[in-house]
Amino acid sequence: GPAPEGNEHVLAWLEAHKGGFGHFIDGRFTDPSASKSFKVANPADGKPLAQVAHGTAQDIDKAVAAAGRAFKGWSKLPGHERAKYLYAIARNIQKRDRFLAVLETMDNGKPIRETRDIDMPLVARHFYHHAGWAELLESEFPGYRPVGVCGQIIPWNFPLLMLAWKIAPALAAGNTVVLKPAEQTPLTALAFAEICREVGLPAGVVNIVTGEGDTGAALVAHEGVQKIAFTGSTDVGRVIRTATAGSGKKLSLELGGKSPFIVFDDADLDSAVEGLVDAIWFNQGEVCCAGSRLLVQEGIAEKLYAKVRARMETLRVGSPLDKSTDIGAVVSTEQLERITALVAKGKEEGAEVFQPSSIQVPGTGTFFAPTLMTGVEPASTVAVVEIFGPVLVAMTFRTPDEAVALANNTRFGLAASIWSENINRSLDVAARLKAGVIWINATNLFDAAAGFGGYRESGFGREGGREGLYEYLADDGAKAKGKEAAK
Ligand code: NAD
Repeated sequence: GPAPEGNEHVLAWLEAHKGGFGHFIDGRFTDPSASKSFKVANPADGKPLAQVAHGTAQDIDKAVAAAGRAFKGWSKLPGHERAKYLYAIARNIQKRDRFLAVLETMDNGKPIRETRDIDMPLVARHFYHHAGWAELLESEFPGYRPVGVCGQIIPWNFPLLMLAWKIAPALAAGNTVVLKPAEQTPLTALAFAEICREVGLPAGVVNIVTGEGDTGAALVAHEGVQKIAFTGSTDVGRVIRTATAGSGKKLSLELGGKSPFIVFDDADLDSAVEGLVDAIWFNQGEVCCAGSRLLVQEGIAEKLYAKVRARMETLRVGSPLDKSTDIGAVVSTEQLERITALVAKGKEEGAEVFQPSSIQVPGTGTFFAPTLMTGVEPASTVAVVEIFGPVLVAMTFRTPDEAVALANNTRFGLAASIWSENINRSLDVAARLKAGVIWINATNLFDAAAGFGGYRESGFGREGGREGLYEYLADDGAKAKGKEAAK
């Protein structure tokens, strides 16, 4: 089909589907088993975008059956044949990237500058990268076996990117999938289903069932599923771990975080300030690995805070579709209320709260101004709990040992960022941090070739690169691990 471009194409697509979306099962959109559905709205103006089916256990059952049938053929294809489909998906995403970026921005509220320049390129890159892996599987993982039917459940903060992180490695390794997008943001997953059809992906290899938590729970419980991959909150991750215990299902969990952003007194402060913009004001701070805890060496704290406040004054909060917007709408009213309540709690607990005087947040829609909290006690709520909003909490330390202790003083362990001009110090500190990903003089860098994942309550398993593939290979693929170790 043609490559639709801007906003009007998205509006036309939504108009064409105004009767509602069904589930994508066995290569086509099917009528849901029950008439239950829910409304999806644009958080920036509250206007409805679409009516989406609320999947039941029967819908899940049909999708798992389709994936089971498709597995027989798909898992037998030579890797280079599967690669052709993954390349075709990647190219199709590039062809439609403006359409997908606008749709994602309308559905989630994130700035178009980010969906266009960050999300969509990373999505395409993920499929290209895993197309390459599909070609290499036989030589790099001799004797590998795919796991089978994978149930995949994703959150709302990077809807299409999280879909790519789940589907690309699963398909590369010869698995078939049933994916449930988040109820807040299912639209790009439905557009992705159309892409699967357009590139001729065999029916049943990818199935998309929309719905809420109960739909996800039915997928987790289904006996025809051999692997569950989940990204979302630590609370739901815990429920899924309990639900799958003893079932023999393979499980990977990518959960929350409270990642430290550590600035030493010898850091290039202007770079660190720009790093903070990317760490906590990217995607409204709705980023699992957001640098949400600023740990700064005592002697430079006031100087750094002054620079951060000045930079915050220049951030633009507003319409996500405006190309000059830095901070769009948070995903939902619930999320906005949660952020608002946590900032109020921080104030109550004695933190000093700064929001730029230059910023007027729009009167309608779910907007929240960029916020800096200083004088935060390490044991206070806002220092401990994941806020998942554009809110930075700051604490000070005196020595590198204190910085390490403070950084590791968390139940999470997803990411960390270190800022110093002294590489020896940075490497020494990096080795002592309990975090899955560590950046030095950088933050929020992602690449399809690099494994991403956490420690402790941030979950287990890795996504991306060679490590990420293990999650989609049957455990006797340990042979393959052996080969790698022997190298
Ligand atoms: P959530 O856990 O409420 O929902 C995530 C998904 O799980 C949704 O699709 C939801 O419908 C589904 N779900 C809810 N209850 C379920 C159940 N009982 N069984 C099965 N599925 C169920 O999380 P959210 O609020 O949508 O996302 C925000 C959270 O996700 C944050 O805590 C964030 O840190 C985390 N997150 C982590 C990563 C990562 O890679 N580690 C990435 C993005 C988001």
